[in-house]
Amino acid sequence: MKKFPAFRIHSDQQDMHAGIEQLSVDDLSEGDVLIRVNYSSVNYKDALAGTGKAQILRRSPLVGGIDLAGEVVESASGDYSQGDQVIVNGSGLSEVHDGGYAEFARVPADWVVLLPTGLTLAQAMIIGTAGFTAALSIHLLQQNNQQVEDGPIVVTGASGGVGSFAIDLLHKLGYETVAVTGSDDAHDYLYELGASKVVSREKIKIGENVLEKTRWAGAIDNVGGDTLSALVRASKPWGNVVSVGIAGGVKFELSAMPFIIRGVNLLGVSSSNCPQPLRKIIWNRLGDDLHPQHIAKIKTQTVKLESLPEIFEKLLNNEIRGRVLVEL
Ligand code: NDP
Repeated sequence: MKKFPAFRIHSDQQDMHAGIEQLSVDDLSEGDVLIRVNYSSVNYKDALAGTGKAQILRRSPLVGGIDLAGEVVESASGDYSQGDQVIVNGSGLSEVHDGGYAEFARVPADWVVLLPTGLTLAQAMIIGTAGFTAALSIHLLQQNNQQVEDGPIVVTGASGGVGSFAIDLLHKLGYETVAVTGSDDAHDYLYELGASKVVSREKIKIGENVLEKTRWAGAIDNVGGDTLSALVRASKPWGNVVSVGIAGGVKFELSAMPFIIRGVNLLGVSSSNCPQPLRKIIWNRLGDDLHPQHIAKIKTQTVKLESLPEIFEKLLNNEIRGRVLVEL
């Protein structure tokens, strides 16, 4: 059986190490669709899993990579045939199932999405879970009646993967956006993606009151903690705040006042276990009306498996802008 390189993570109470190992298809988690992986990507969660900074794996060892795109090699499912170009994102990859950091992946058919018309495999993985989550967040805003004329949407952690695509897509849909960033050298980049205004993280000062002066009509928050609390407390009536990430903290304090006095909505988003019908809708929108305008600009690097440990460290140290594409 031919062997191929895979970036495999061993993470349990006794042991944490990760690196390239030679595997064969028989070593991979089971599934009815075998995919030759062309591309994967690097997400915040991949960096946490690959460095052991958080316990992402619920089985060990596993091939890392929560995203993959490639071509079907074998399928026991009537829904997919040899040669189909497909995407898998989240769904348990690199949590309970071998992920995308290998030349092959075997997955259950009901995790697979056909590559939408309008996207190449490489573009789909530049988008990856980060862009998918930005699109899903915007879909939720729209479902909650967030109108362009309501006012600006603030995006925190703006220069990261989710933030970059959120700015791009909101701008495309005509929303005014305020990009909040801690990266002083990212201001021009964020204006180029379509931000209406870029604000330094340190300059955002919101008080501690249960209701603060309203500043934004909605938010996509990648930072969590006190930032998330502040966004809700300063949201305009009927604004929608989407909680995406925890790059800056987990716990926060909030009263019920923004919800019951202003009708503010706090919306959760979970890309990993997004229901499959909704996942297909979002990928199809990414190939169509939510096709990002700056995919090439948001991809700042293309790397091979060997570079992953260095990339993980840089990502967690906030030294990476936009998205990193992994080429198998
Ligand atoms: P990135 O690492 O690409 O971006 C995170 C950004 O957050 C950084 O670029 C930086 O932006 C900002 N940031 C980093 N550290 C801090 C800090 N200490 N305080 C405040 N801001 C900080 O990650 P992703 O965009 O891939 O993911 C963003 C967040 O969303 C992560 O927490 C991730 O786990 C989560 N996530 C959640 C998903 C879901 O389904 N709910 C799916 C995908 C991601 P800047 O320098 O511009 O401020």
